[in-house]
Amino acid sequence: MAPTGNVSRKEHNPAVPVEIPEQIESVHQAYEAGASIAHIHVRDSQGNPTSNPDLFGQLQEGVLKHCPDIIIQMSTGARAGNSSERGGMLVHNPEMASICTGSVNFKNIIYENHPALVAELASSMLDRNIKPEVEIFDLSMLYAAVDMVERKELKSPLHVQFVMGIANALPAEKHILEFLVQELQRTSPGATWTAAGVGRHQVVLHQWALEMGGHIRTGLEDSVQFDKDNLAKSNAQLVERAAKMALDSGRGVATPTEARQLLGLTSPT
Ligand code: MG
Repeated sequence: MAPTGNVSRKEHNPAVPVEIPEQIESVHQAYEAGASIAHIHVRDSQGNPTSNPDLFGQLQEGVLKHCPDIIIQMSTGARAGNSSERGGMLVHNPEMASICTGSVNFKNIIYENHPALVAELASSMLDRNIKPEVEIFDLSMLYAAVDMVERKELKSPLHVQFVMGIANALPAEKHILEFLVQELQRTSPGATWTAAGVGRHQVVLHQWALEMGGHIRTGLEDSVQFDKDNLAKSNAQLVERAAKMALDSGRGVATPTEARQLLGLTSPT
């Protein structure tokens, strides 16, 4: 569950939690609704993306106080800069962190991940026993991740997140997701995967991932809408719908402990 991200703002939906206390509260509600992982970003006092390690530390501490067994996944996403600061939050040793293994043109920006920075982030995650979630916005990023496993810069089995529906990147089409999953399974035996649909593609990506054996992600980072006509009321509302879809499909909802087993994480001590 991705409560905030770097793009969603209160102007889009007042329910987007931006400041640390409201993020903590929103994650807590989403956890009660069934979220096992919190993929977190932080914002500065103007509401803009930042990699400020102190803010990440405050958010982690507050979330774990209310949700002691939730898995924290910190974002090292590109909208928060393109220097070594991007990995500054890893000093807090979250159980997971996102990493993107390439660059791509989005509609109005270069989503930039210089190879040297990618290597630096991966090295820091290896040193700290942080499980990466490899964010795949374009096909080349999958092969880059596989190369990094061969160079022992990333550990096997990989865990990847296919992000679909961003303009100029991967379209939200089922045959493309099927191809991505086939290529992941061919190149990375034992890998686990999640899919996220951005904006209006969120629910259909849940359906496809549940059918195809993947995991699902939701949250106001990915869509501020609940459906075509309604804003989402909260992250918890989105999680409730995703959890119901998982149950209705016969897949079920993993507790944090079960999610750790699926992802090969060692429980926090
Ligand atoms: Mg993110």
